[in-house]
Amino acid sequence: MIASIEPSKKGMEADLKILMKTMMEKKIVDALVLPVRQPDKISVMPSLIASPEEIDDAVFLSPCFYINAARMVSRLSFKKAGKKTAVWLRPCEISAFIELEKLNQASREELIIMGMDCPMALERDAFQTYMKNGGAKENDWAARVFADPCNPDLAPARSCSVCTSPLPDHADLGFFFYANSGEKGLVIEGATPKGEEVLEKCALKEASLPGEREPMVAQLIKTREAAFESMAEKVTQETDSLDKLGQFFGACINCYNCCNVCPVCYCRECVFNTDVFSHEPIQYHQWADKWGKIKLPSDTLFYHLTRLAHMSHACVGCGQCTQACPANIPVATLFSTVAKQVQKAFDYHPGSDDPPPFSVFNAQEYPEVVGIQ
Ligand code: SF4
Ligand code: SF4
Ligand code: SF4
Repeated sequence: MIASIEPSKKGMEADLKILMKTMMEKKIVDALVLPVRQPDKISVMPSLIASPEEIDDAVFLSPCFYINAARMVSRLSFKKAGKKTAVWLRPCEISAFIELEKLNQASREELIIMGMDCPMALERDAFQTYMKNGGAKENDWAARVFADPCNPDLAPARSCSVCTSPLPDHADLGFFFYANSGEKGLVIEGATPKGEEVLEKCALKEASLPGEREPMVAQLIKTREAAFESMAEKVTQETDSLDKLGQFFGACINCYNCCNVCPVCYCRECVFNTDVFSHEPIQYHQWADKWGKIKLPSDTLFYHLTRLAHMSHACVGCGQCTQACPANIPVATLFSTVAKQVQKAFDYHPGSDDPPPFSVFNAQEYPEVVGIQ
């Protein structure tokens, strides 16, 4: 079911706030998780909202993306809280959330997932500059993105410029913005019975998608696929030997930020945060004696290769690992390149209903490897 909200003339952000307030006032939900402007007047972070007045500080279409909220929403949902909560997520956050749900680290039972055509994000520094130069102009950003998402002048974060999954495919409620200037109102799809129920309870009128949306989305995905291929080719050339991998991660200080922010790095206790890698002093000397020298901190490559082996089937390409790296290493370019190949090999798509490839046995898989013809 597709419905729309009458435009209020105050813009789409204002119309979204009215809808969210209606959902709380009609007790369709007890709480909301929305991106909310922080007291520094710049940052926008996911926040759990229990009072309708707090919705005024929400910024739905900001290019600020400091954290993938899937991990936060998993913390709110892995056990029942008795609170029906609607959560506003980007497509890569929804896919990551679904991956966590498959590992019993999250549950959508008490949630309504609201997904959006993604307005992309700016790199952290670029976003700060953007805000300092222009004030709160996220609406301008979103309007430019949704009118012409392939425009190179937008210069989004690298992960967004190669993202081939920018649509709210797995949401209960999908908010469609591409090719919609807002003049005819917000267009929303109730994609599941839960989503349809919300539209019915809010008494929204039936609508249709703007005709220009489909060709615009097709062109966008084609452009992004080409950009991804070009990025993958470059990073493959930069990392196709152990020596080159060592160069790629040469400045790594083993801070594990890339693991901490990754929404699909799923181990409850990361082995790299245990004593396993606190070696005896003599061990370092033995390695140095053997190889002539060792980089300190040690185990850098081992850490990255282990992480790749654990989560490349589930990497959603959100780019948070790059954003969090104090050494400016473009971690996500390598991880998403490897991930794309792993996901292709297993015909697996993060965020799909399929079980993770490592959790199922298929006797017919890879006959050329296991020798079964
Ligand atoms: S990676 Fe894709 S879904 Fe995630 S913020 Fe960027 S464009 Fe949106
Ligand atoms: S590895 Fe990086 S790009 Fe992939 S899901 Fe984790 S944080 Fe996102
Ligand atoms: S965030 Fe950067 S410096 Fe820290 S462990 Fe990851 S790659 Fe290394």
